Amino acid sequence: MSQSENLPIPNIPQPKHKRIVIVGAGFAGLKIAQKLAHTDYQIVLFDKNNYHQFQPLLYQVATAALSPSAVSFPLRRIFHKIDNVVFRMAVVREIDKEKKTIYTNLGTIQYDYLVLSQGANTNYFGNQNIQKFCAPMKSTSEALYIRNKIISNYERAVNIADEDERKPIMNVVIVGGGATGVELAGSIAELRNKVLPKDYPQLSFKNMRVILVESGGSLLSGLTPKSREKALQYLQELGVEVMLNTRVEDYDGFIVKLLDKEPIKTLTLLWAAGIKANSLIGVEDDQKAPNGRLLVDEFNRMVNEQDIYVVGDQCVQKEEKFPNGHPQVAQVAIQQAANLAKNFKNELKGKPWIPFKYNDLGSMATIGKKMAVVDLPFVSFQGSFAWLVWLFVHLMAILGVKNKLMVFLTWSWKYLSFDPSLRLLIRPRYVKEFKRQWMLEEKDYED
Ligand SMILES: Cc1cc2nc3c(=O)[nH]c(=O)nc-3n(C[C@H](O)[C@H](O)[C@H](O)COP(=O)(O)OP(=O)(O)OC[C@H]3O[C@@H](n4cnc5c(N)ncnc54)[C@H](O)[C@@H]3O)c2cc1C
Repeated sequence: MSQSENLPIPNIPQPKHKRIVIVGAGFAGLKIAQKLAHTDYQIVLFDKNNYHQFQPLLYQVATAALSPSAVSFPLRRIFHKIDNVVFRMAVVREIDKEKKTIYTNLGTIQYDYLVLSQGANTNYFGNQNIQKFCAPMKSTSEALYIRNKIISNYERAVNIADEDERKPIMNVVIVGGGATGVELAGSIAELRNKVLPKDYPQLSFKNMRVILVESGGSLLSGLTPKSREKALQYLQELGVEVMLNTRVEDYDGFIVKLLDKEPIKTLTLLWAAGIKANSLIGVEDDQKAPNGRLLVDEFNRMVNEQDIYVVGDQCVQKEEKFPNGHPQVAQVAIQQAANLAKNFKNELKGKPWIPFKYNDLGSMATIGKKMAVVDLPFVSFQGSFAWLVWLFVHLMAILGVKNKLMVFLTWSWKYLSFDPSLRLLIRPRYVKEFKRQWMLEEKDYED
């Protein structure tokens, strides 16, 4: 730890009332900060990026359908003219619960209340080869990396004479049959079927396999049987090879080894098979569930703590209807955040705190144009209408009028022409050594 990391972060005013420090400006952290704007609390919000990411549409960035800026929103802009919210781009590393202080790469800060909303990261289940060679998709920069990787593969393949040598460069294997894997597989198949053959007429796209590998017996395990079957049918119609009950054992950057099945050659293994909750130094082992999620009570208060709260993917909270905790989805994060913000307001008014109750609004996934599945609490439907509902719900959920408009126009153009214009290969330039300390590169902010 450098000397400055032990000093208070400069230019953060002393709070007039109490200070709430929020770690992570994802769905949960951002919602709390927004709900507590213009209250007597001082809110200090940290995130390792200076933007909020709309993860449900990252797969569209990875497949060149949307630009990164359509799904990433500058956090500072959200808090224009809101005096009680201070934002800092920083990596939070450690808590000292006795001193009510957190340690970041910028320095330290004390809190009255601490809210952890750091979300989750990719889980490789301990396989270091897979971690080294696969491409995960938890952030905008990872989605952009996938876009670059797929496009570079084709720029490379088009110059290779031998067809057998080209095949592994063109194949894409996706691991994980949840919503992310299904949506990625469908979107890559659409690229293969409609877009890439126009860009690379010299390549035969019959040689490009899109394979979705899932260790369980069905896709989209949380959805109704009808939706699961339909999702499988849609993927097969798009030409995705779906391998159920199939476990990936290893990957060396070229060969995907499968348990009891033929290996697959590919340079592109996309990993959407699992997540693990983020944490911090200073959280005790008995405050974590076996899967790493932090244990909280019905008010999202961390067990054995008075002033620390955890919301969203990072926590596990048991409810009668959810004895093993809630699913790690955006709705849970948003609803927990809204409830906690209300409770902080109740605290100001001397009113009692309200326990959290999850209102499950349903689930949906889209596979391709006019191919989606929607399960609402009392009705389940699939096909074109489900696809329109999916488009509408996601459009409404995106932050900002400009972004909504941008996404609407991009989608309209894409689905009318199937010619998205984002197949650009923009590679980051290497930063000169003497400039590195001034450049806030993302690699400095990765765990
Ligand atoms: C590709 C993908 C697709 C998804 N699709 C859907 C979907 O269709 N529907 C759905 O409901 N859910 C979906 N999810 C899940 C949903 O995105 C999560 O449940 C939701 O983001 C959880 O919100 P959160 O606030 O807990 O965490 P996040 O939104 O992940 O936010 C965590 C924030 O904490 C920051 N952070 C982490 N560690 C630190 C640190 N040490 N210091 C500073 N900042 C830190 C991160 O930068 C991030 O901004 C998807 C997830 C992914 C990855």
